[in-house]
Amino acid sequence: MDLKSIENIVSLCKRRGFIFQSSEIYGGLGSTWDYGPYGVEMKQRIKNFWWHDVVTSRENVVGMDAAILMHPKTWEASGHVSNFHDPLVDCKNCKARYRADHVDLNKPCERCGKKDWTEPRQFNLMFKTTIGPVEDSGEITYLRPETAQGIFVNFMNVQGTSRQKLPFGIAQLGKAFRNEITTGNFLFRTREFEQMELEFFIHPGENEKWLDYWCEERLNWFKKLGINPEKLRLRPHDKDELAHYSTACFDVEYEFPFGWSELEGIADRGTFDLDQHNEYSGKKQQYFDPQTNERIIPAVVESSAGVDRTFLTCLVDAYCEEEVRDEKRIVLKLDPKIAPITCAVFPLVKKDGLPEIAQKIVEDIRTKYSAFFDQGGSIGRRYRRQDEAGTPYGVTIDHQTTEDGTVTLRDRDTMDQVRISTDNILSELQSRIQ
Ligand SMILES: [Zn+2]
Repeated sequence: MDLKSIENIVSLCKRRGFIFQSSEIYGGLGSTWDYGPYGVEMKQRIKNFWWHDVVTSRENVVGMDAAILMHPKTWEASGHVSNFHDPLVDCKNCKARYRADHVDLNKPCERCGKKDWTEPRQFNLMFKTTIGPVEDSGEITYLRPETAQGIFVNFMNVQGTSRQKLPFGIAQLGKAFRNEITTGNFLFRTREFEQMELEFFIHPGENEKWLDYWCEERLNWFKKLGINPEKLRLRPHDKDELAHYSTACFDVEYEFPFGWSELEGIADRGTFDLDQHNEYSGKKQQYFDPQTNERIIPAVVESSAGVDRTFLTCLVDAYCEEEVRDEKRIVLKLDPKIAPITCAVFPLVKKDGLPEIAQKIVEDIRTKYSAFFDQGGSIGRRYRRQDEAGTPYGVTIDHQTTEDGTVTLRDRDTMDQVRISTDNILSELQSRIQ
């Protein structure tokens, strides 16, 4: 797939109601996108699948949902204020990093004597805002740049109430904001985005074991989403790529039309975050280990994935253009568990009682799956619209239905059609989905 395909996907997303440009009637807002009716359904299914896989199905992971606004000291403790604050330049030769206003960029690097600077980059990625009605005297805080800190500052609350023992995890899904200098590639890099984060608390010293464990779990999760495994890989970070809090990190990457890019980071954060909050808050952030009768600050392995990136990956991976009888067929081969509509229902004609039978079938399907009723246009055009929306199954009601109670069930990917009894539609869908 070439770069042009991202444009094709953007246009399909608009045409079928997956994604619209934000504030489009006012000319749009750069790199900001709105999820339409199909988009929000698919996004919700991705999030539900994550929540089930990481939280609900596990004994030793609990969830939470923290506020987006947090006490500003959080961001001093986390290192986001000092580490993301200044415009920085790097010496490309020796990798030394300087504040852009502290060096003369017309002169060579003090350390290595070569003159090869990167462009100055603004590192204060946080969106500042003011609490209270008076802008001058109000308290300054930030829109959270990650959901992780909401988990760390609640470590004692959650551990105390859930009575979890190490190792255990706390997971959260929610919006985060980063004032990125460079954005782009549709949903890939945006300033407002949604994260799926797990902080897994462990005995210090077991970092490597749990880092390996979560790398494998998370890579498998993307495969279970139906993404082509050959386009997924785990890539270890080089030393100079590591964030300030991390000693080892792996990225789950997908091969996009614009190259291999990160979907998720799995990082060994050590005890950095709880140490910092222990110090900055003056409140002990400790776990009492009943086996050794010791109080310790646990270490953390983090899994941090982007919802919007995962959404884009599912679209890119599912997008196909095929030749069918001299006609181009565009089809989204989405996994049935994330497709916005599971089954579309079509009466062949708008008369002879067929629409009424179709409506009844739609109601039946909706007791378990999402269904869509469409009686507009030729049957071929209705199939094409559902192919573009990624709907895996279509049921057509024709005159034979009124005689013997059977319908045709069409498979989106193979376009094969079989006749089945109306009574068996739900069970047939169920067996095909599993
Ligand atoms: Zn240098």
